[in-house]
Amino acid sequence: MPSTDHSPAPGEPVLVLLTAGPGGAPTPRLADPAAPHLTVTDQGATRGDGLFETALAVADASGVFAMRKPGAHLGRLAASAAALLLPVPEAPVWEEAIAAGLAAYADANEVAEGDRLAVRLTVTRGPEVGPGEPPRPSAWVLLSPAARPDPAERRAGVRVLLLDRGLDSTVAERAPWLLTGAKTLSYAVNMAALRHARAHGADDVVFTSADGYLLEGPTSTLLISRRGADSARRLVTPLRQKGILAGTSQSVIFAAAQAEGWALGYGPLVPADLEGADGLWLVSSVRGVLPIRAVDGREVPVDQELTELLQGWLDADVDPGDHLTGD
Ligand code: PLP
Repeated sequence: MPSTDHSPAPGEPVLVLLTAGPGGAPTPRLADPAAPHLTVTDQGATRGDGLFETALAVADASGVFAMRKPGAHLGRLAASAAALLLPVPEAPVWEEAIAAGLAAYADANEVAEGDRLAVRLTVTRGPEVGPGEPPRPSAWVLLSPAARPDPAERRAGVRVLLLDRGLDSTVAERAPWLLTGAKTLSYAVNMAALRHARAHGADDVVFTSADGYLLEGPTSTLLISRRGADSARRLVTPLRQKGILAGTSQSVIFAAAQAEGWALGYGPLVPADLEGADGLWLVSSVRGVLPIRAVDGREVPVDQELTELLQGWLDADVDPGDHLTGD
């Protein structure tokens, strides 16, 4: 049982702090999400120095929540932590905190089957410390009610703009300090790109590299379906080495597609590869599978059946663990 400073009210997000205990091992503690917990000198706030993961938890018929693909999210969190040289709690500590948060939310609310929570794990570098002092990172889990998928949105699809991210496709190997494959807290650029898209008549973005390769959305992975010469179905996603995040949703969908006999492909992809496709999607853990209906103002085909198929594979809730395909 986690220690408790706070009993969540119905509908309120649940916060589980992972503060280092006396022996150094972090212990989960339920806390008030509306109260301040970080100092203003925390480098998560002053420099965007930290990492996060966002996962989806769904309630079953008994009203019990389970977080989807925990192994994949915790594996990616560990990879981000290694890239940032940031000390983070071990996987069992996160698992305990997530379980405590899910149970606390279920206790405080009338839960119906299919109710959803966005589960956000965050670690910041904490306040600056003096030379020789141990780092004091802050870590927590925040669980917030998430809307059920909107069938109208899934039918309608999203309009995307192709936006240059300004980095070339060799940056991941050439300049690892740019952390392109890590899920860092520095998402201001991603959010600015989304605002730019919305100010220009679109809903979302697909980033391209400065040398013209397709990358990813600001909060999603790009998937493309097309038929090969033998009319076999093929699912393609941009090459990870081009400097994109390893998508957990993409990995789940690819594993299911392969099991169904689809061919898989990992870029490199250019904007011309978007033409003549059977379907284009942005996929991510909380929003799921969203069909793209227009690229830079040009309509593209939306195949509702394929969208449902891909969403069904994602909903089958298979955890790819800490090895995400695409390496
Ligand atoms: N790419 C970026 C930049 C993201 O931020 C995300 C998710 O937030 C994704 C891809 C999709 O990742 P996942 O499917 O693991 O949610």
